[in-house]
Amino acid sequence: MDEHTLWERCVAFHGHACGGLTIGFKAALYAAELLELTFSPDEQVVCVSENDACGVDAIQVILGCSVGKGNLLFRMRGKQAFSFYSRTTGRSVRLCLRPRPGEMTREESFAYYQSQKPCDLFDAMPVRFPLPEPARLFRSVTCSCCGESTAESMIRMQDGKPLCLDCFVPYDRFHV
Ligand SMILES: [Zn+2]
Ligand SMILES: [Zn+2]
Repeated sequence: MDEHTLWERCVAFHGHACGGLTIGFKAALYAAELLELTFSPDEQVVCVSENDACGVDAIQVILGCSVGKGNLLFRMRGKQAFSFYSRTTGRSVRLCLRPRPGEMTREESFAYYQSQKPCDLFDAMPVRFPLPEPARLFRSVTCSCCGESTAESMIRMQDGKPLCLDCFVPYDRFHV
């Protein structure tokens, strides 16, 4: 698929064209080039995003990393940085957006990001942590208070009974 069609698809999914979407678009293209990635129908490609802004939507469209499949993970740092991993080849890269040259309006920054080559926008560097394990399936436990079925990993014990996080009263005497 040519770049323009890909961009149109990203805009259709995201709802509007913007600078943020462009950042994710260029990051996905750059990662695809560096790691020889294609759209991931399962968990072959993993993206760990350090922000939850517009750009993540382009990564979902282009690389098939999505929350539902478990191959789009957030490690929130408020940075325009994305780590990409290929489960197929074991290769990975972290892309971090370089600072913009000076102040820009929204329109100017959109035009700026659109005009740049991916390799001029991002620093490519080794990832900072290993490939996260594949999405796990957890058994369901029924909360003894509300009766709702809950993934075991989200259950807390209180008074010997399993409780969901909505019903559990946290015990932390330093942050009341
Ligand atoms: Zn946007
Ligand atoms: Zn409950």
